[in-house]
Amino acid sequence: MNKTDQDLLTDTYGRTIKSLRMSITNRCNLDCIYCHNEGDTGNGKEMSVETISNIVNVAAGFGVNKIKFSGGEPLVRRDFEDIISSLPSMKDISVTTNGTLLSSRAQDLKDAGLDRVNISLDSLDPEKYQWITNKKPSLLNKVLDGIHSAIDAGLIPVKLNMVMLHGINDTKLDDMLEFTKEYSDDVILQLIQLMDVKDISKYQVDADAIEQGLAKRADEVRVRQMHHRKKYIIDGAEVEFVRPVDNTEFCANCNRLRVTADGKLKPCLLVNDDLVDVSNASLEDLPDLFKLAVHKRIPYCREV
Ligand code: SAM
Repeated sequence: MNKTDQDLLTDTYGRTIKSLRMSITNRCNLDCIYCHNEGDTGNGKEMSVETISNIVNVAAGFGVNKIKFSGGEPLVRRDFEDIISSLPSMKDISVTTNGTLLSSRAQDLKDAGLDRVNISLDSLDPEKYQWITNKKPSLLNKVLDGIHSAIDAGLIPVKLNMVMLHGINDTKLDDMLEFTKEYSDDVILQLIQLMDVKDISKYQVDADAIEQGLAKRADEVRVRQMHHRKKYIIDGAEVEFVRPVDNTEFCANCNRLRVTADGKLKPCLLVNDDLVDVSNASLEDLPDLFKLAVHKRIPYCREV
């Protein structure tokens, strides 16, 4: 059934919410040098399965048809399978994970209703991986096992999230392309422009140069509806470049509402004074709280 305009969550800038990005924990078994923690400065509390299910059900009632779980590391929650099982039917249920805890749980997560995974993988070099993730010994092999298990379980396409770090992994793009190609359509490489949330600007890459390099090598370029992102097909490997930094088009096309691990609706990754607490909200109150949060949405980067 089609929703009328009144049934949808549309902000004052005309952006209709279609997806939720929900953090379910701030805990993580890695400590990546650049991590923005989804902009979540929460109090360490975590939502119960029931609270998560209620929030998603109300969002689905407003026509939200995609959800991505994040964190922290979502798989540190032993009840992640229960969380997935508790969800209403949606077009796309996915998780972004560091992959280190995935291999033994990929099939159970698929059976519970998870559609696909994004796996963070910034380097194929064990030492670099260890340096970036601040974890000894390197857990790179666990991530590779996680990728294989995800493919075997049908959690595809697996998107590999590679945050581009100048002088660290930006010269190793070809290795990652080769790796991606081996899995043909099952794996997509998603390059991500570094957001300077800590004192890490020295690792910022020249995004235009990277994009031009991809365009030059691409056999085909497609434009995705989401954020009008470009997809490059290079020797059979599919590559996207996500450029969230100072990008008015990115914000103008943002159709996601965030939820923090402790249960607050979060209109924007980079803003923290506009949160709407739904951690103890009843099912009756949730719809109005959603409308309030959406009303607070302002594109972080916009033409003025
Ligand atoms: N632990 C999970 C993981 O590794 O995917 C989920 C949390 S992590 C915050 C989610 C995604 O955000 C990862 O793909 C990560 O690479 C990306 N990310 C984190 N900090 C970032 C930053 N400063 N700039 C760009 N992307 C970032």
